Amino acid sequence: MKLFEHEAKEIFRAFGMPTPPGGVARTPAEARKRAEEVGKPVVVKAQVLAGKRGKAGGVKFADTPEEAEKYAEEILAMRINDLPVEAVLIEEKLDIEQEIYVGVTVDRNERKYVMIGSGAGGMSIEELAEESPEKIIKRHVDPSLGFQSYEARDMAIDMGFKGKDINKLSGFFTKLWNIVSKYDVELSEINPLILTKDGRFLAADARLNIDDNSLYRHKDVIERIKREPLEMNERERMATEQGMAYVELDGNIACICNGAGLTMATLDAVELFGGKASTFLDLGGGSDKERVENGIEIALMYDKVKAILVNIMGGITRCDDVANGIVAARDDKGIKVPMVIRMVGTNEKEGQEILAREGIPFLTTMEDAASKVVELVKEGK
Ligand code: GDP
Ligand code: MN
Repeated sequence: MKLFEHEAKEIFRAFGMPTPPGGVARTPAEARKRAEEVGKPVVVKAQVLAGKRGKAGGVKFADTPEEAEKYAEEILAMRINDLPVEAVLIEEKLDIEQEIYVGVTVDRNERKYVMIGSGAGGMSIEELAEESPEKIIKRHVDPSLGFQSYEARDMAIDMGFKGKDINKLSGFFTKLWNIVSKYDVELSEINPLILTKDGRFLAADARLNIDDNSLYRHKDVIERIKREPLEMNERERMATEQGMAYVELDGNIACICNGAGLTMATLDAVELFGGKASTFLDLGGGSDKERVENGIEIALMYDKVKAILVNIMGGITRCDDVANGIVAARDDKGIKVPMVIRMVGTNEKEGQEILAREGIPFLTTMEDAASKVVELVKEGK
């Protein structure tokens, strides 16, 4: 899950990392107020989950609150990377002595986190890696020890810093490491971290991606999803809030399954028989009646869906619960598209009995179910 710059900075500050004074605005008038509070020239920055906002015209400098208001109006009307800008961040404009890069990501080959730094920040790390790879300093993090403060100082020295600056800069690495450990961060970048002409180090930009699989233990972050109009549609948001994996595709068959592997296999089976999936919906393990009903409800909200294929492997999930969920969905939601059901495993017989009693047809192999649903869509039933 990607956080907005202002949300990431909120976390940065909570961990003692300095960021430029300022705040978020959702209207031009609010932007003017924030700029008045800063009381200095400001930078007006589009809050979208996309990089390179600067190049897209989403970062502008304003000398007065009136100017900040005008730029906020322009930026709030923009789309960047096809995403609407719903807020701007107003912050003190810094006098740049040097732009620095500080980041962390997972090195999958080494199976370790890697801290990355460079005295040549501002441009993207990919560009820097092409132009001057020798300016990129890296250190892997020993998972049993964490990132040690002497290693952070070493990095600052290797990045070309001296004297008091070493401690000031290395503090960003240790704090970033603390954030990584607390929030199961997949990727974070401070680009640029600005060294001002008057000797301050401040995180001027902030990117923070949290591993989606860890969200269950970061309730405070989940709260943000509800509060923020994140770049998710209503269906994606509903599924995320319930811990289901939901992906929309271009076809017209909604595949509702349990387990990512089974869902992928079901999508493949649909393709194999000449159909196209509209929906990847992994209900997750231990799905009960309500979860199945909710999953079907979410899938039906997508207007491309012409048929539903439910494919469940009963383990912890019980087929009779699933069957009851299907029946409830049919009765409560008035389903107008055909449904094909295949379920095997725990309480299979009980589940099939429920479906048979309710007159809902079911199949026992994935191949039969996939070819059946494709056939129904082709017939336009
Ligand atoms: P990005 O383009 O989405 O990465 O947005 P950034 O927040 O990194 O801003 C783009 C560029 O604007 C930065 O690389 C800086 O050169 C510049 N910039 C951002 N904040 C400030 C600031 O406070 N003062 C000055 N002078 N430049 C800034
Ligand atoms: Mn940046």
